[in-house]
Amino acid sequence: MSRKVERPALLVRVLTELGAGRITEGWLADKHCFVHGETDGRVIRINPAIGVVDTVIHECLHRLEPSWSENYVRRTTTWVMRRCSDEQLQAIYVEYTRIAKKRKSHRRTDAG
Ligand SMILES: [Zn+2]
Repeated sequence: MSRKVERPALLVRVLTELGAGRITEGWLADKHCFVHGETDGRVIRINPAIGVVDTVIHECLHRLEPSWSENYVRRTTTWVMRRCSDEQLQAIYVEYTRIAKKRKSHRRTDAG
């Protein structure tokens, strides 16, 4: 079987699994790493804050320091993230969700 046939089949299975629900959203605390999500095989727990806050800090750094390279912005974002407490990261996420204006779609620019 070719990959072209397998991939949509797997995506359909993933979407069916998503449709099954039993998914919660909230902060996942871990002393050693940033946890985006986990499952015990029954419930899926998603922590959207980590990915969002990483992206928010990354794009804020681009806007603050347009001359910085993509690689340097990535490394600096990680540096900032690791120095934030759980409470600070959660506060940034809450602030982001409060001030972000919703839009349907946007064709992205060359800048990352
Ligand atoms: Zn970037």
